[in-house]
Amino acid sequence: MSHTKPYAIAYKGLKEGDYDFEFEIGDALFESYGRVEILSGECRARVHMHRAEAVLEMHTSIDGSVLCECDRCLEECRIPVAFEGDLIVKFSDEIDDYDGEQMWISPGDDEVDLTQYLYESIVLSLPYRRVHAEGECNADMLARFGVMSAEEFDSRAEEAEQPESHGIGDEAMARLAELKGRMLSDDVSEGKA
Ligand SMILES: [Zn+2]
Repeated sequence: MSHTKPYAIAYKGLKEGDYDFEFEIGDALFESYGRVEILSGECRARVHMHRAEAVLEMHTSIDGSVLCECDRCLEECRIPVAFEGDLIVKFSDEIDDYDGEQMWISPGDDEVDLTQYLYESIVLSLPYRRVHAEGECNADMLARFGVMSAEEFDSRAEEAEQPESHGIGDEAMARLAELKGRMLSDDVSEGKA
């Protein structure tokens, strides 16, 4: 329901060259995605953009923190965010979907909207396991579940832990696809009254 696009870059008037942009990311963004993965948060994104004749090359770094539901005790826990990534924006009238590393926009568009890119980059930067630091889980909640001790949980979770990966791995792609599917089915993106 955004009236303006707070995470858009109006590239049209810019000559070829290098530019820097900074975006503050707050609760409004996470709310617009229904607080599914992230309850709230505060991050800052810095985008370095090289505008070439036919493409926009962007290097984005995001840091800050978000609140997620702890996988172990279900209380809110704060997870630091540190993301670095490259994005190539190409112009085409045949708009392809974007895959996390390339985005296509229509040559007629005056601006490139990074809202979805920034949101998904934050989600993908989060650890597979989102839990409080050791000893900081809500003890009452853990006792109520009564199933696993913290040690048991950790050893099981480690077995399921993804192998180390850089950039967009299979795991991340699968999560991205799942996320997109959910967003489509929930229709949480833009409610038009
Ligand atoms: Zn916890």
